[in-house]
Amino acid sequence: MAESEFEIIRRYFTPTGAGRDDVVAGVGDDAALLRTPPDAELVVCMDTLVSGVHFPDGTSPAAIGHKALAVNLSDLAAMGAEPAWVTLSLTLPDNKPAWLEQFSRAFFKLAARYNVQLVGGDTSRGPLSVTVQAHGFVPAGQALRRRGAQPGDRIYVTGTLGDAGLALQLDMAPGTALRQRLDYPWPRIEAGRVLRGHASAAIDISDGLLADLGHLLEGDDLGAVLQVDDLPRSGEFLASLKRLDPDRQAYFYELPLSAGDDYELCFTVPEPYSEAMESRLAGIPCECTAIGVIEAAAGIRCYRKTGEQYRPAASGYLHFNDGSLLSR
Ligand code: ADP
Ligand code: MG
Repeated sequence: MAESEFEIIRRYFTPTGAGRDDVVAGVGDDAALLRTPPDAELVVCMDTLVSGVHFPDGTSPAAIGHKALAVNLSDLAAMGAEPAWVTLSLTLPDNKPAWLEQFSRAFFKLAARYNVQLVGGDTSRGPLSVTVQAHGFVPAGQALRRRGAQPGDRIYVTGTLGDAGLALQLDMAPGTALRQRLDYPWPRIEAGRVLRGHASAAIDISDGLLADLGHLLEGDDLGAVLQVDDLPRSGEFLASLKRLDPDRQAYFYELPLSAGDDYELCFTVPEPYSEAMESRLAGIPCECTAIGVIEAAAGIRCYRKTGEQYRPAASGYLHFNDGSLLSR
């Protein structure tokens, strides 16, 4: 490498600006030294992005920097946590200053937005791969968990679904609205904050709604009814669909059920609290939409607004005789 590992860390990964006062020592010592608040639980997660696997080859360095952090903050959001610290393990094939500059700028921009401080990491040479570990806090006992939904609970999602999936399927150019949703997912931290201590269960949707909702159901062998026509679809999603031939329209219409990379939250709320929760959620930066109800009978059953049952064509799911679905 033209610049030494030491030089890369110093130039691109030494946080600038105001640091958090719970960081006793960050980047530059042998390890980070951090102060945890009393009465809080520490929430820790890690995700790796590998070139060609988690983002298309040719994805911009800014998008990679943003997304590597965003997918981790999304996991913290799904737990209802306040983000605090991150570490970054970077494996680079070569050392291109412009790449590092754009990557780190996007990374730090998102970090600043949520008062997250980069406190350490590792840098090595090899095929491009980015691993971020994120740490956050939640008041003891208030974390959102996957387990906890009950029959009768309403099912909600944040934002819109299927945008990133459609961008991938149609190979949309960088910069277009749908491609932005693939490249720059936005962590739903504000939603998690409102939901913690109140939602009965929550998960972030990274592998598709059916698969991830399936995780909320599996522990207790619960089921769900979904209204396919109520799934939130963006204006860009619907406009792009309109330009396709009818067969492909019908196929892509169900992308909100099956496509990955949404990074929205799916959560359940006990019916008696749903109205109060909806008015609290009105204050956050994204819409939340009721899409269905938890049921005692296992499996996910989908309906059209006409009342007829809808059987998703999406592959990768087990189809049962009664038309219900279970996640992979
Ligand atoms: P060591 O050899 O002791 O592991 P390193 O040279 O790997 O030390 O790292 C020196 C310091 O720089 C450490 O504080 C480490 O956490 C930090 N660091 C290394 N790589 C990164 C990175 N990509 N982002 C942030 N901090 C990093
Ligand atoms: Mg090291």
